[in-house]
Amino acid sequence: MNLNVLCLYPNVMDLYGDNANIDILKYRAKQRNIDINIDTYTIGDEEPNFYEYDLVFLGGGSDTEQKVVAKDIIKYQKQIERSINKGIFYLLVCGGFQLFGKYYKDSENKVIKGLNIFNYYTETSSTKNEKCIGDIVIESVVDNHKIELVGFENHGGQTFGIDTPLGKVRYGNGNSFKNEYEGFMKENVIGTYLHGPLLSKNPELADYILKYCLERKYNKKVNLKKIDDEFENIAKKEMLDKLLVRNI
Ligand code: GLN
Repeated sequence: MNLNVLCLYPNVMDLYGDNANIDILKYRAKQRNIDINIDTYTIGDEEPNFYEYDLVFLGGGSDTEQKVVAKDIIKYQKQIERSINKGIFYLLVCGGFQLFGKYYKDSENKVIKGLNIFNYYTETSSTKNEKCIGDIVIESVVDNHKIELVGFENHGGQTFGIDTPLGKVRYGNGNSFKNEYEGFMKENVIGTYLHGPLLSKNPELADYILKYCLERKYNKKVNLKKIDDEFENIAKKEMLDKLLVRNI
């Protein structure tokens, strides 16, 4: 089995090593004899064929970087929307997540037009101390299982208008300062503020995405072989123990 992945703007949107999410998928797939082919698209490249891919990834970036990417990605609005409707999986982190909404109002109050694929919108708070920075833990349900996801958030943008979040905040801020919820989720789209990279810290989520992409592509039930996650689990437990105890 194999999967085709498209990594968008990897040279621009790679805050906190977000692109490593793709390396993690490749690493976990390889241990199951699944091959992952990774293509990249960035400004100036030929138009990618979005429909050829099983997964599309876009990471986070500063306001300046987002502005540059927003101008380019808008050319592909229709293709992206259609590919989402076809069930292709989209993993979007922070700045990338914001760009799929209606708009992003940056720290200078300038509005960056989003792809307008989802109804949420993001505005930078005028109150300086309302920046969401630090470790974060959320509780999410994937594949009918409750899981905890850990990560690191750093965003001035406050996202509103989401009624299908990725999870409930147990520690940290989430979609906006002191929000109860984090991220955006539908069957084949995850938008999140969790950097880290997200998938190195949360192997269960990486496997959920792999499984989804394989089942869709091969149109059959896939059971991923268990792999050794000893170190990942120790690292995660360390973070959960540290953060959730302090939160009581
Ligand atoms: N520039 C955006 C914000 O500050 C996104 C930052 C990010 O990707 N971490 O909200």
